[in-house]
Amino acid sequence: MTLQFLGAGSAFTQDNRQSNMVLTKGDKRLLIDAGSDVRCSLKEAGLHLRMLDGVYISHLHSDHCGGMEYLALATYFDPAFINADGTRRRLKLYLHSSIEVKLWEMLQNGCVVPGIDATLETFFEVVSEELAFVWNGIEFTMVKTVHCHANQIPIPCYGIAWYTDCGRVWLSGDTIFEPEHFANLFATVARFSTIVKQLFPPLCTRTTINWLPLMRRSKAKSSCSTTMMARRKIVWPTASPAG
Ligand SMILES: [Zn+2]
Repeated sequence: MTLQFLGAGSAFTQDNRQSNMVLTKGDKRLLIDAGSDVRCSLKEAGLHLRMLDGVYISHLHSDHCGGMEYLALATYFDPAFINADGTRRRLKLYLHSSIEVKLWEMLQNGCVVPGIDATLETFFEVVSEELAFVWNGIEFTMVKTVHCHANQIPIPCYGIAWYTDCGRVWLSGDTIFEPEHFANLFATVARFSTIVKQLFPPLCTRTTINWLPLMRRSKAKSSCSTTMMARRKIVWPTASPAG
């Protein structure tokens, strides 16, 4: 299993691509977030939409979902997505049920096809869940955290957590550090083998591996590395030839 970074920049980065990733297991690839850079960052990573099996969207900022119109239309009009029996292959779209309608509201003005009353299902095989989803034999728990506060309302982000042969992984998505609200969560993830965090606000967003001084502050175990992960890969060794 491999986690490949397509970028490690903030929402407004001009030279380090947005922090989207591709998780590969066996011959299947899951795109984790699809920001507005994704059509370029995929190509720079030697990847193509045809090589993807699905996409996960953590929240509705454009650096995490701004490339979804591209995914929708580029796959819809790509003959390679037409199966031999004439049916259409669609990318699987995994997301928390609370953002499904809002995502389509963002896309529907651009995702128009002549003669079709398009919906999100026109372009994607939608898997909308509230707690967890399964992709390629892996169960991913959607971990709700607070991204930011807008008008005193907490805006959620849904990171994901899953097991590998080497331990549990938590990918936070854009998450503000509020230990007073998430003490149990942060204490739990301190025991994880790998933590990929994306902290908010965006001007200081860094995508890093393992937890940073935040965990030291909460007096939790930490094996810290502040390495910027642009286009690096994390590889979890496995005894399974399927990876
Ligand atoms: Zn965000």
